[in-house]
Amino acid sequence: MFTFFKSKNTEKTLRDYVLEAHREKRAIGHFNISNIEGFWAVVNAGRKLNLPIIIGVSEGERDFIGVNQVKALVESARKEFNHPIFLNADHTYSFDKVKQVVDAGFDACIFDGTELPFDKNVEETKKSVAYAKKSNPNILVEAEIGFIGKSSKILEKIPEGVNISAEFLTKPEEAKHFVDLTGVDMLAPAVGNIHGMLSGGKNPALNIERIQAISDAVKIPLVLHGGSGTSDEDFKKAIQAGVAIVHINTEIRVAYRDALKNNLAAHPDEIAPYKLMKPSVEAMQTVIENRLKLFNNIA
Ligand SMILES: [Zn+2]
Repeated sequence: MFTFFKSKNTEKTLRDYVLEAHREKRAIGHFNISNIEGFWAVVNAGRKLNLPIIIGVSEGERDFIGVNQVKALVESARKEFNHPIFLNADHTYSFDKVKQVVDAGFDACIFDGTELPFDKNVEETKKSVAYAKKSNPNILVEAEIGFIGKSSKILEKIPEGVNISAEFLTKPEEAKHFVDLTGVDMLAPAVGNIHGMLSGGKNPALNIERIQAISDAVKIPLVLHGGSGTSDEDFKKAIQAGVAIVHINTEIRVAYRDALKNNLAAHPDEIAPYKLMKPSVEAMQTVIENRLKLFNNIA
């Protein structure tokens, strides 16, 4: 089949996997979870396809699960199944919260200073990188430039403050300057992507030339956020152009909610949560498997 796991072992770090994917023009799937149902959906999908996976938790998601609890969950699965399952602190808006996840032993974290002025974003990102690397030389720190919205939900229109016309997207020279100043491992640019998914399920097209130009300028792996609703063709081209991690959240949330709604309607007398939630796990797993196949060129 495919050869990803010739080198499978849990000694390999997330950095090794990301650089390998970047070289081979594949992408690692990053899937957000809010609960144990989401956790199993991601773990099952990764194990079934024999691919490394990143579990992402935003500030809200990790407040709900618990910072140390989600770390323990991921660690337990990584050990028990000898499978490369990694944990990322998605969009983290303050240095204090970066410190918290670094101290908890996360594999990666994202400092999101996109709402700050450029200089302040640089300053806060640098502080986060310095703290993270001092505590754990293997941790990956990602930062962002360019605002792409903040929600993972169904949207009626492009979010407020986001402009996807070319002059508002991340500029290659600005991206290079930012990476040189901050020393981040990965960069999430604004390239026509938006957080959340437009109703109807079709998000705007990505600016592939811009992704390529940024990738050529910064030479570090790029991360594509707001992947839900993006067309298969755009994903493939973006990965060819230098994207090594793709974030999916909204699509998984929709699958969870819809399966639960249908199951509640079909079995109004059922009260066992594990029975009510089972179709949701399966629905989320299907979404995740399909995305993983696409990101890794598996037919
Ligand atoms: Zn994001």
